[in-house]
Amino acid sequence: MKTELVIGFDLGGTHLAAAVVDADGAVVSRRSSPVRAERGPGPVIADILAAVDPLLRGAAGKRSELRAVGVAAPGPLCVSTGRIVRMANLPGWDNVPLRDTIHDALGCPVAVENDGNAAAYGEYRGGSGRSIAELPENANDGERDRCDLVMFTLGTGVGAGVVIGGRIHHGHFENAGELGHMIVAYDGLPCGCGQRGCLEQYASASAVARRVRDAMRSGEPTRLADDGPIESIDATCVVDAARAGDALCGRIWDEACRYLAVACVNVQHAINPPRILLGGGMARAGSFLLDPVREHARRNQWKLYDDAPGIELASLGTDAGAVGAAALAWSLVDRTTR
Ligand SMILES: [Zn+2]
Repeated sequence: MKTELVIGFDLGGTHLAAAVVDADGAVVSRRSSPVRAERGPGPVIADILAAVDPLLRGAAGKRSELRAVGVAAPGPLCVSTGRIVRMANLPGWDNVPLRDTIHDALGCPVAVENDGNAAAYGEYRGGSGRSIAELPENANDGERDRCDLVMFTLGTGVGAGVVIGGRIHHGHFENAGELGHMIVAYDGLPCGCGQRGCLEQYASASAVARRVRDAMRSGEPTRLADDGPIESIDATCVVDAARAGDALCGRIWDEACRYLAVACVNVQHAINPPRILLGGGMARAGSFLLDPVREHARRNQWKLYDDAPGIELASLGTDAGAVGAAALAWSLVDRTTR
């Protein structure tokens, strides 16, 4: 049987993650390399293209076996045209035709998707949403709805994605699922997006670390004060100190969990999914994140109807975006050539 492969890329602010995925959905090769984002889109796209052959070699594959490519990228972007509108952390990406540029270079179908959506779709197809793989081809709407999910990716910002009825929900303006910019605090902390009180100003890894650093500069005591320069404190330091009983870090961490719980309750009412997944670097805290989020959500939920979603940890880790991009690439192959 002829070997067929796709590559999923996940372009982040600091790294380009990639996975080669076979027709059974298995990751057969992966790679992560630094992105020198300051050079602008041309060199970054060149890095994506230059990674193709080493990735295929790592999978014992050839260029002739490459059927499609998927690219997950920070948005906003236009899924239907494959153009990047803008990128918050990568300069110079204004109205860049990413899909057509890669298609012209590689000669295969290319899918471009928001990174939060791609991660959610990756979990849906190959991670914590694995039950979808057990559905029959002719599954009805009710069966598919049981596999719906919403995922928060807690990293530099808060990415998110919504999968409904087997598809990523894009919305009329193709920008649905930007749940990191859901306002959870009226007139709250300013966000780079122009709003105030966005979820990602409280519940991203960067926000947790920044809020602890700001409190330290205001003179609040913490055991982290003995650990070197304030600038070196990241979310991992905060989690470790909170676990060890540090009051400041414990408070900031618990507030992050409270805001996430509020977001989960809002999602419950807006989407009504059976489950919400927490992924990204901050989810490595495991039950130290999950347990308080579940508890705060339970206390904030309404009592009129028992429609609370299960809140779970995502399972693909840093692979989720690339795996989701690869799954979207496979869907192009299915549509165009089979
Ligand atoms: Zn915002």
